[in-house]
Amino acid sequence: MGYSVPLCSVLLAVSLSGCVVVHKESTPTSSNELMNLNSTLWMQTSAEYKGNALQTYKAAELQLNNAIKDSSWTSAIEQQDNYGNLPPAIILDVDETVLDNSQFQADMILNDYSYDPKKWDQWVSLQSAPEIPGAVAFINKAQQMGVEIIYITNRECKSRDNSSNHCPQKQETINNLKSVGINQVDSEDVFLKKEKADWSSEKQSRRELVAESYRIIMLIGDDLGDFLPNVKRGITPSARKDLVTDYQDNWGVKWFILGNPTYGSWSQLLEAPRVNYLKGY
Ligand SMILES: [Mg+2]
Repeated sequence: MGYSVPLCSVLLAVSLSGCVVVHKESTPTSSNELMNLNSTLWMQTSAEYKGNALQTYKAAELQLNNAIKDSSWTSAIEQQDNYGNLPPAIILDVDETVLDNSQFQADMILNDYSYDPKKWDQWVSLQSAPEIPGAVAFINKAQQMGVEIIYITNRECKSRDNSSNHCPQKQETINNLKSVGINQVDSEDVFLKKEKADWSSEKQSRRELVAESYRIIMLIGDDLGDFLPNVKRGITPSARKDLVTDYQDNWGVKWFILGNPTYGSWSQLLEAPRVNYLKGY
């Protein structure tokens, strides 16, 4: 029973005649893609997702004034002392925080393949991801108010075709951010994974670096790893939820999280068979 509904939905998507005819070439068959169908449809078609994202950025906007004026205000646990006189900055993640890559997710479903780093790199090179609703207006407003906008992303630096350019992905990401309407994106404010040898997918060291020069007034992301270290592997789902409770005063005030049901460290750390994590009644 568990998989009959999504399978039926898939078939409906390819055949208006209902759930009888199976179009093998265009029907996603792997459980991975079937599970992402609902998630991707939610991001691409639902008014509810759009409202959710707008709400998140509106909440952040409402805190901007207080955060800028209050020199004791910091949002990063990496920032401990001597930050009161530093200029304010906001750290944002990029993917599913500012840029919407659901077309890449949709392509995996439509063409029935699992995540492939080469295909992802091709998608990055297209520089055509649209904005997450609310992100651009918020970023431009914060910049206007004198806040430095810093992007810490796990888009990975990787040279292509033996080129001497160590990181074509950086300029492509900057171009994409500008193309959605962000007025100013400074190259020195974009930190990619592997841009420096010791920059892994763990974002803590990059936050520490930013904390040396800026008072980090807000963190905005779609993954718990955009806010806290050591939450991407070797941790149980319930321990991650406990951390959310531990920092409950930050959510909606200093930390702002976007919904992402399509992928993330929440998903990566679930072991197969994932159905075992479901709780019935
Ligand atoms: Mg992200």
